[in-house]
Amino acid sequence: MPTINALSQLLFPTRCFGCQTIGLSICSTCRIQWHPHYYLTHISQVSVHSAVIYSPTASKILLAAKERGLKGADDLVIDAIVHVLSQANFDKHNIRLVPIPSSQSARRRRGRSFIVDVASSVSAQTSFPLSDSLELVRKVRDQSGLHASARARNMQSAFAIKAGAYPRGDLILIDDVVTTGATLRDAARALTSQGFQVLASVTACVAQPLR
Ligand SMILES: [Zn+2]
Repeated sequence: MPTINALSQLLFPTRCFGCQTIGLSICSTCRIQWHPHYYLTHISQVSVHSAVIYSPTASKILLAAKERGLKGADDLVIDAIVHVLSQANFDKHNIRLVPIPSSQSARRRRGRSFIVDVASSVSAQTSFPLSDSLELVRKVRDQSGLHASARARNMQSAFAIKAGAYPRGDLILIDDVVTTGATLRDAARALTSQGFQVLASVTACVAQPLR
């Protein structure tokens, strides 16, 4: 319905998530900081494939998606992860996407499980099946502002496989951002300690950790 779209654009014009300029959800200037490439890092035994380097623009996009639930921001995160999956050449594998779940308090605040939502859209676009098989089994602190060793302690033994879940295949952990890898490391531990096969992790962003 073009008239309703036109009216809503008039009342609520699309603004750039990076700088608030009216026009596109990401303007050409901010696009420089959010342009999906392909970065490969390693956390313990798990390779981490990412699309963009974390930046002030990336932070604003992730917050708009996570905390404000804005579809345009979700789409940028989804597109980044789909881009990485297409670059990473997992074709020979029997891929299952395993989202890293958020804490219960974050789910309550946001009214959804952000990464599960993102991973299920990625699954729909790529036809890699979703295996929502992890859960947090204890309270964890918000990681922003925590240094590497505090993050490792914070996430130690935090994840477990959901009751009844049986994540077969080559598992790809999905998250929005990797920093120290504490979260991915514990999620991988929860799966491999039960004999499941974690092939890699895919994140939208890769950040430089606090030392
Ligand atoms: Zn901008």
